[in-house]
Amino acid sequence: MNVTTTPSSSAASLRPPNKLPKPNDACWCGSGKKYKKCHQEADAEFIKDERKRLEANRVRPGRVSPMRTVPDSIPRPDYWQTGQPSRGTGRNVRTPDEIVRMRAAGAAAARILKLAGAFVKPGISTDDIDAYVHELTIKEGGYPSPLNYRGFPKSVCTSVNEVICHGIPDDRKLLEGDIVNLDVTIFVGGVHGDCNATFGVGTIDDESRQLIRVTHECLMKGIEGVKPGRPISDIGRNIEQHADKYGYGVVRAYCGHGISETFHAPLQIPHYFDARSTTKMEVGMTFTIEPMIALGTWEETTWDDEWTAVTKDLKRTAQFEHTILVTETGADILTLEP
Ligand code: MN
Ligand code: MN
Repeated sequence: MNVTTTPSSSAASLRPPNKLPKPNDACWCGSGKKYKKCHQEADAEFIKDERKRLEANRVRPGRVSPMRTVPDSIPRPDYWQTGQPSRGTGRNVRTPDEIVRMRAAGAAAARILKLAGAFVKPGISTDDIDAYVHELTIKEGGYPSPLNYRGFPKSVCTSVNEVICHGIPDDRKLLEGDIVNLDVTIFVGGVHGDCNATFGVGTIDDESRQLIRVTHECLMKGIEGVKPGRPISDIGRNIEQHADKYGYGVVRAYCGHGISETFHAPLQIPHYFDARSTTKMEVGMTFTIEPMIALGTWEETTWDDEWTAVTKDLKRTAQFEHTILVTETGADILTLEP
């Protein structure tokens, strides 16, 4: 194989790997030549073209509809009016009564997420999804936790393509081939249930399909790392090891979190290996695991709306989330439908 500078029509075969070799290392193509004497120049060209394509197709902010209202009969979290959540109790371990209510809230969140995912199709706007999730949440007797949480204007986060998380639903219509993460949280019975999943819009390309599959696997590997007595860093280690096999980036700026009567309790769950996460897992803790996995870099930047987080290289990213309870033997997933 002796491909040098000119990308030919067979662009697919020229696709460089996510992690590029150093100039004096062997080329990734298996030619046995040094990278600088083989694919380096062609890769630089490929990456420049891809960047242009990604720039042209990037997600742009649309129009955000007015905040939706919740009927007076629905119990609300403390921040619903001011936008400022209280600090909560600071306890990481839940009482038996709290666990019963966490299970119910988790199951409700899972039901809403499943219906919202089935609703995803080309031509609907993320605002349409917001209206639907808002309605489903009220039908469950709950309050959509994102609504006015630290001023977030909508009832669900909708994160499309290169948007990592906290995308604000607006009038942008989903396109065939997009991927979209729906992050659903419900406040019901005095506690929050939090889960998310990434869905393909119509038919998606193989690269996106693999990203979604591997991201879900990362979540499940993270959950396998939950064991009482072990440090929280075990979770991120498992996730990072799996993502590394594919050369994917693990987003660092956003972590899983303690959850119960407060939406985001202080306990932090990094999705990469962080040796400083020495807190031991204890039976009765509830927290989320929600890895955000990127085709390219883990580095992110935030839009002017101060919410929407996107990958710096504009490559796609996926996420899955469960709320879990630490048990004697490992973890119970609370955000599954019973
Ligand atoms: Mn969430
Ligand atoms: Mn969460």
